[in-house]
Amino acid sequence: MRSLSIFGATGSVGESAFDLLTRAGGPDAYRTVALTGGRNVARLAEMTRALQAEVAVIADETLLDDLRSALAGTSTRAAAGEAAIDEAARMPSDWSLSAIVGTAGLMPGLRVVERGGTLALANKESLVAAGPMLMGRARASGATILPVDSEHSAIFQCLEDGKLDHVEMVTLTASGGAFRDWPVERLVHATVAEASSHPNWSMGQRITIDSASMFNKALEVIEAHEFFALPNDRIRVLVHPESIVHAMVTYADGATLAHMGPPDMRHAIGHALHWPGRARLPIAALDLAALGSLTFRAPDEERWPALRLAREVVDQGGAAGAVLNAAKEQALDDFMAGRIRFTDMAAAVEHALDIGAGRPHFGDSPNTLDAVLDWDRAARRDAADWAARNRR
Ligand code: NDP
Repeated sequence: MRSLSIFGATGSVGESAFDLLTRAGGPDAYRTVALTGGRNVARLAEMTRALQAEVAVIADETLLDDLRSALAGTSTRAAAGEAAIDEAARMPSDWSLSAIVGTAGLMPGLRVVERGGTLALANKESLVAAGPMLMGRARASGATILPVDSEHSAIFQCLEDGKLDHVEMVTLTASGGAFRDWPVERLVHATVAEASSHPNWSMGQRITIDSASMFNKALEVIEAHEFFALPNDRIRVLVHPESIVHAMVTYADGATLAHMGPPDMRHAIGHALHWPGRARLPIAALDLAALGSLTFRAPDEERWPALRLAREVVDQGGAAGAVLNAAKEQALDDFMAGRIRFTDMAAAVEHALDIGAGRPHFGDSPNTLDAVLDWDRAARRDAADWAARNRR
């Protein structure tokens, strides 16, 4: 029986994975080694009971007693805190899903890769902040990293034998998020509630706001650069409001292969779970006749300055990805807390990148977790300083 672990089980991606696993038979089909959550003890305990996980870890250490109580009568070992997540990630499992949101997701993914495991990677921040380190350690240990971000999974599926031979260009599609049709001058007034509603995908709140600002696509451009080792001019972004084509791969002979499907994360998760094979998944069939037409347009950088910043980060390399990632998280916190406006997020990130570029070793890719976290803390401080000076 295959064994697996889920880091970030209680989130949106974690829930989709849980749905697939329970439909497949739960503990009769898979041995669950570890499940982790951030603060949602009740849901973590329910999932742990359903999958009969060996270890359940809650990131917030103050919640350990609650988790223990919720798991009373089971044989699951309850644990809490970052060190316990670290330990869980080192436990052998055939397949591990990295679905914690933010920089906190880097450490468990790194541990899985260091032990040569198979990492299904939803946490795009890992590649943005530490792509060369993560990919380098995977090469050294023989680990397999499978993309779970839907666009990157789609590209991966359009490649012949998983190779980039003869690939000229990859295209990431973007729905355009909540504000794709708003007049640009109205964006300055956008509220958190307005930014939190996605036209097509049902996702966690943070990534939904990142879709509205296109910071999500900015992260994905950097992620594609790190994962597929492609330069800026071979990664294109197209706005595709219907979210049916997730990505395209254009070959030298003029053929463009598109990956299509309904916007449902269970496809990309299920693909990674069953790779290199395929399995029947509970995904609605695509009804192109009912859809009638699919539309595409070039993204507008005035509306979405995050895309320009991503291009600059790809060209800069070094610590730029770690800085953009952390500054973006800080700016998002500041927007969600009402301290800055929606349009201020890109300005705060650009400020942190400018300050970061003046620091020693900015041109070197961080090669340890501590180095990534140092850049992360500094960039958050720089973005927060900008927010404090430009408070609305
Ligand atoms: P959610 O916010 O829905 O879930 C995040 C998960 O991480 C939860 O389990 C949460 O726990 C846990 N968590 C939060 N903070 C910490 C922390 N400091 N330490 C440990 N665990 C923590 O996020 P999503 O599921 O939307 O996204 C997860 C990742 O997948 C992100 O990197 C995102 O970019 C990526 N992704 C998401 C997609 C989607 O459709 N949602 C699509 C493609 C990629 P709790 O809820 O218990 O507090």
